[in-house]
Amino acid sequence: MKIIFTIDGVLEVIDLRAVIDEFRVLNMVKEINIELSPKFEIPAVMQKYDNGPVLIFNRVKNHKIPVVSGLAGSRKIFMKQLNCADLTDFYNKLLSAISNPCKPKVTSDGEFYDHTLNNDLYKLPILTFFEKDHAPYITSGVVYVRDPESGVQNASIHRLMLIDKNHLAIRIVPRHLYSIYQKYRVKNQPLPIAIAIGVNPLVALSASAPVPFNFDEMYVANSLLNKKLKVCSTPNSEIQVPSHAEIVIEASILPTDVDEGPFLDITGTYDEVRRQPLVEVTKIYCKPDPVYHGLLPAGAEHKLLMGMFREVKIYEHVKNVVPVVRGVNLTLGGTGWLHAVVSVSKQTEGDGKNVIFAAFSGHPSLKHVIVVDEDIDPYNMQDVEWAIATRLQGDKGLVIIPNARGSTLDPSGDQQTGLTTKIGVDATRPLNKPKEVFMRGVIPHNLNLEEI
Ligand code: MN
Repeated sequence: MKIIFTIDGVLEVIDLRAVIDEFRVLNMVKEINIELSPKFEIPAVMQKYDNGPVLIFNRVKNHKIPVVSGLAGSRKIFMKQLNCADLTDFYNKLLSAISNPCKPKVTSDGEFYDHTLNNDLYKLPILTFFEKDHAPYITSGVVYVRDPESGVQNASIHRLMLIDKNHLAIRIVPRHLYSIYQKYRVKNQPLPIAIAIGVNPLVALSASAPVPFNFDEMYVANSLLNKKLKVCSTPNSEIQVPSHAEIVIEASILPTDVDEGPFLDITGTYDEVRRQPLVEVTKIYCKPDPVYHGLLPAGAEHKLLMGMFREVKIYEHVKNVVPVVRGVNLTLGGTGWLHAVVSVSKQTEGDGKNVIFAAFSGHPSLKHVIVVDEDIDPYNMQDVEWAIATRLQGDKGLVIIPNARGSTLDPSGDQQTGLTTKIGVDATRPLNKPKEVFMRGVIPHNLNLEEI
């Protein structure tokens, strides 16, 4: 009998192909068998199916390697993989993985060791997504690096612009990889890295886990995967990568900069051209028949990989001020980063305002937050709008915070300083009027509407 995501001890195989097979059984995979170009054509289809299913592009023009996408494109996909009963269960599993990190087993048996693609980046079906993109970009590469002082590894996802057969440009924002890179850059030395493409979606998700510096994100991934993650060293740089990775690139980030961009960011708008570090590729390894994970910029997969753990942090902070949180939605329309809807059970007047502050502290880049009652589905924006229409009075429910620190990604804010105006909307019903006044009418029936 086929086993569906038995993270609890039966399924030993966690690689991308095994995950795809599981989704096939669930009818969540669409195979595209017409030949499509990696330039614009595959991205256009990815955009059409942004909300699922998982896509497999079997025939990529001028390439032998198929492209897969959408493996991290919905909460449902993550929840299925983790056997979660509901959203609360899912949030708690992610929070537990952060607080109970677990060292992965080390194996000498990397499945990608034997093949090299002639060390030629052009052999990879690297996609060109949008009209003004400067070049093809790798968007799903998890970059692994070792801190020279502590010896602890870091994992993070960065966009990588193709320059030639063995060069890329890497966009690095000032976070953990940046700090490690600076230690080499001041000595004018190259920083060894390994880039893994085509890993288990939970491994990719863990790369954005909100953990401190010198805390290996791979331990979070291993905890999420019920200790099934195995890592192996790359042959030359001895950086550990998931042994199940489809493609692994050994490279160095050089102490020199090149023009990077323009390229579309999570907001769906273009980032400017920046001076960013040059990457020199020394070796490309892959499985015998690898698949390439393509990830659409500003698509659902991009937003969830970047935002899912932030959503969980908002949940954690809001739980401190109200006991029952139905859900948190970093909405896709709100770029998966700037807007949140939080649904809570309000206990006393003023709870809505406290939830606003808690949400902003849980995710400092958050710009707008809408708080609704527990009868409002935070994932249904029509429901949310109805709550704003029938429960909000603007002179009482709005909180405006000018000159707060927000996201530099927002083109309407100050992109140099990150200063922005934040707005909280308390669309919970006031407690000084009878509850019935605010409740929707229902149609009483005993029908099973699923069957009709
Ligand atoms: Mn880190």
